[in-house]
Parts: sequence; structure tokens; C-alpha cells
Amino acid sequence: MQALVLERVGELTLRDIDLPQTVGPDDVKIALHTVGVCGSDVHYYTHGAIGDYIVKAPMVLGHEGAGTVVEVGRNVTTLKAGDRVCMEPGIPDLSSRASKLGIYNVDPAVTFWATPPVHGILTPFTVHPAAFTYKLPDNVSFAEGAMVEPFAVGMQAAARARIVPGDVAVVTGCGTIGIMVALAALAGGCSKVIVSDVSAEKLKIAGGYAGIVPVNVREKNLLDAVKAETDGWGADVVFEASGSPKVYEDLLRVVRPGGALVLIGLPPDKVSFNVNAAIAREVRIETVFRYANVFDRALALIASGKVNLKPLISETFAFKDSIAAFERAAKGLPTDIKLQIRVSPEKA
Ligand code: ZN
Repeated sequence: MQALVLERVGELTLRDIDLPQTVGPDDVKIALHTVGVCGSDVHYYTHGAIGDYIVKAPMVLGHEGAGTVVEVGRNVTTLKAGDRVCMEPGIPDLSSRASKLGIYNVDPAVTFWATPPVHGILTPFTVHPAAFTYKLPDNVSFAEGAMVEPFAVGMQAAARARIVPGDVAVVTGCGTIGIMVALAALAGGCSKVIVSDVSAEKLKIAGGYAGIVPVNVREKNLLDAVKAETDGWGADVVFEASGSPKVYEDLLRVVRPGGALVLIGLPPDKVSFNVNAAIAREVRIETVFRYANVFDRALALIASGKVNLKPLISETFAFKDSIAAFERAAKGLPTDIKLQIRVSPEKA
């Protein structure tokens, strides 16, 4: 079957590869329609590794997908052929302690699409457990369905923050995930979300949403901006979504006393962190790794119209142009938030 294969660092091919197509009793087979290009896919392409995950053999990329069910296993009662769906890319061991606790995202045995050595889904068909396959509401397009995966990270972050209605939040970093976090925080009850970055283009896109206050830290100090927006009190929740070690210098002063700091962005290396400053003001620190139990609620929010992800889809490429999509993504244009690949020629 044709697939977009990362052969080694910097080398992509669109070629035939053997992928398992056996539909187990609890699985569904899905014809992919749209697959998003994720920062992690691009990082494997340009660097060949993320932390301990190293690309050692050819690997199919892509993990943000939506499509149509074409076959169901004999035990599957929740889905049928023809259903439009999106998929959660991680498959935990359902009998693990982590799964039983509902924290299957941190199950040590989890396998995750396009994370070495597991193949991704930039290919016409995939087989997936029905338990991690979600029916799209009628008014949610395949393109939006393929956005649920990155939005799920924002949902997880908002849940971790334990937002109270009216909270003021800050998101440092206006990349795809930063914007997803801001939208989930607004949907979760924040009165406003201050989003900081150095890219005027990205901030302009985020600032197009009601409730998002963009702050360009090239022009303005974030701490001053947050003080101005909160009568000097600080933000109830600060989401760190940039991964920039420099951002950490001021971070604890941006949070109000007793507020929460939620860490999402992966810094390239260790960062120094003022523990005393955190303790002195009883800052609650949370971390986010992927997501668990949020896809249903993410889809409900999109279907309700409370969250609109469409303005974040910057361009859609045909499957045959997948390599061009990755070359474009690797350039990191400031106006690109999400690039998608339409695997199937079928409409919306
Ligand atoms: Zn992703």
C-alpha cells in the first residue's frame, strides 16, 4: 500500500510498504480522508529523533487523522461501515494499571502512531481499535476531525488547570498547540486568555478569536502586560506551550499567588526553575503529556460551534504532494498553523 515513508533523516518517499491490514475482533478498518502534519512528524523528518524516540528504520508518518469506517471486527457494536470518524493515535494496554486509573496516556506500554518504531497513517487505510475511534458529528468535517488530535492536547491542559469560570489565563507560545490550549481554556470558562509569542503573524491569527489578547514579547514585557490585564494580581493559570527555556525566567511571576502553572511545551534541554518562588506563593504545577479521555468532549465542543478550528487550517495538500507538504512544514512559515494532507479525493 502507498504511504509517506520517512526513510531516514531528511529523506521522505511516497512508496509501497507492507502494513498490517488484519481487522481483529475489536478493531475497525478506516479509509483515511484527511491527515494533519504535526510538529512531531516534521521533527522526525528534520532531526530523526525526539528525545529517546529515534527513527532507526523506515517509518510511515502522520497521526492526526479522520476518515470513514470500511470494515468492523465481530465484537464491534459502536461503529459500522460508512461512519465518519477520527482516531486517537495512542493504543495503551487496556489491562495496565495506568489504563485502569484512566491515565492511559502515560501507560508505559502505550504505542503511538508515527512514534518510532510504530507506523503512522499517511496511507489510504489503517486498522485501529474501535475503543479509540470516535464518530464525527454530522456537522464536523473530516478536516476538523483531523484537528481533534492537536486540540485534545489543549483539552487536556485546560482540564489539568481546573479552570474556574472567569479565570484569566496566559499561554506562552502561539504555535499550533498554544492556540489549541487558548481555545480550550476559553471554552473551559476563562474570561480572557493572554497569548504571548515573538511572531507577529501567529499572534495576528490567534488575536482573531474573541477572548484572546495577543502580546508580542518583542515589543512588550509579558509580566507588565499580564499585570495591566489583572490589576497587578497575576494570571489564575499560566500555560507554558513554547518550550523556550528563556520563557521560564519570568514565568512564576506571571502566575498569581495560589495560581496554577501548566507545562506543555518540551524544552530542548533542562531548564532552571525557581522552586522557592513557586513554594512562596503556593503555585500548583501540572504537566501535560498528550491526553486521555478528552476526544468525546473535544468533538462535542467543535460540533456545538463553541470552538472553531477551521481558521487554523492554513493549507491542504493532495496525497501525491505529501512530500511538498512536509518540505513546506519544515520551513516553519509564521503564517502556517496547520497543514493537512487529503489522502482521499472524496469531498469534505
Ligand atoms: Zn499531533
